Amino acid sequence: METGMENTVETARETKHYDVVVVGGGLAGLTAAAILSHKGKKVALVERGNLGGRAVTLRIKDFAFNFGAHAIYGRDTSVLRTLKKEIGINIGWEDFEPNKAKYDIGDQLTDVPANIQGLFRTAVIKGTGKIKFTFEIFKTLLRLEKGHPHLSIAKWMEENHINEDVREMMLTLASSNFFTKEPEKIPSDVFFNYYQRLFTTNKPVAYIAGGWQALIDEFIRVIESSGGEIYMKTKVESVSADNDRVTGIQTNKANFAGKEFVFAIPPKELDKVFVGTKIEHSVKQYSNYEPSYVYVYDVGLRERIDVPYTYIYDKQNRIFITDISHYDRSCAPEGSQLLQAIAYIAQDDLKDKEKMEEYHAKIEALYDKHFSGWRDQLVVPRVSKRAAAQEIKWTMTQDPMPLYFPDYRNVFFTGDWCQGEGQLSELSFSSAYETSKLILQKD
Ligand SMILES: Cc1cc2nc3c(=O)[nH]c(=O)nc-3n(C[C@H](O)[C@H](O)[C@H](O)COP(=O)(O)OP(=O)(O)OC[C@H]3O[C@@H](n4cnc5c(N)ncnc54)[C@H](O)[C@@H]3O)c2cc1C
Repeated sequence: METGMENTVETARETKHYDVVVVGGGLAGLTAAAILSHKGKKVALVERGNLGGRAVTLRIKDFAFNFGAHAIYGRDTSVLRTLKKEIGINIGWEDFEPNKAKYDIGDQLTDVPANIQGLFRTAVIKGTGKIKFTFEIFKTLLRLEKGHPHLSIAKWMEENHINEDVREMMLTLASSNFFTKEPEKIPSDVFFNYYQRLFTTNKPVAYIAGGWQALIDEFIRVIESSGGEIYMKTKVESVSADNDRVTGIQTNKANFAGKEFVFAIPPKELDKVFVGTKIEHSVKQYSNYEPSYVYVYDVGLRERIDVPYTYIYDKQNRIFITDISHYDRSCAPEGSQLLQAIAYIAQDDLKDKEKMEEYHAKIEALYDKHFSGWRDQLVVPRVSKRAAAQEIKWTMTQDPMPLYFPDYRNVFFTGDWCQGEGQLSELSFSSAYETSKLILQKD
């Protein structure tokens, strides 16, 4: 492809030239870099640390701990499926088994209403509630329920006189899909948009075989085989601009010039990088936000503790445990087990040391209750006390960032803090896909 630009030779403060410079090597940056390089653009991907961002697979004592569940919701409608067709991203899937999923409702375990059998068998919702809940699902599917951007889901349910059992069920579902302890704050339009998509899927939850690393390796393969260049340990510090275009970025190692720029770094970082530019104030507007924090406590066990379930959701405490090794055997040595527990954290608890210790104790109590003997089998625990599952939490006072501001014609944004489809990593994939499309449409 004719770029009219050549990569220059290494000098003390070299300027490297590209068609597109992608900043940030998390899932969003990797997606954009893979699409654009596959479509013939000369791409540089610049990452301050290692590739993957929050999607990390960490190997400790032969166990592969994933930062997060690496579960993809609605894989048959995911952008990952489009990426397979369009750029050859190839990953294996381990589908979640709904019949092995249980809600812990205090004195008993009951089915998760993840499918129609589960809905009939579950005790979390009673006779008429089940019919009303099914009716709500149909209305959502038919887009008869759309919510309203000015109403939270709690307010919407109040105004629409939603039955108490149905309300409880909808909020419990939202808590686990949006990774939040405060599902009632989700804007109702976001809620219905999400479920409209999820209720139409045949594959509601699936794990990536080999964990996040398998996906990251695929992105790297596509980028490098298409001639894209990856720069790790390269931190972007500032940008330079000229009228309505950004012309370059400055890093701790080199300067990068480009025709187009994709920024896949969180708004708190963008805020520093865009100081003194025309979009300084626009970016600032989005930089003061609360993420959706979770407490992660995974354990690698010497021997499997066989139980008839692979997923337990403690409904009262909003904690879930997944037997990750049941789905993905590659994450634990033969005969051993890797369990993952995630607790959704309430915003007010974050600064309270005692409350945070309570999360730890509650997770251990849940392990004791359902995986009795786990302490004797423990080989290695892994704890993250404050992991940002989604960079911005859905509340009525937080808006996702747009994919561009009109002031700069060659600057785009992507990440799970941006406008897009789905939640969590799907927001990263979908915003990166849209961003790449906008750049490719310029040709
Ligand atoms: C505990 C946990 C569980 C999760 N579980 C799931 C799940 O089951 N399913 C799911 O779909 N998602 C899950 N997620 C969410 C998923 O991990 C994220 O949505 C996704 O990884 C976000 O990717 P991103 O590229 O948008 O952002 P990030 O991963 O934050 O990437 C941003 C990148 O920019 C880099 N960067 C920042 N500043 C600079 C700079 N100045 N210069 C250069 N580089 C810079 C960072 O180092 C980072 O690599 C989970 C997350 C966590 C933490």
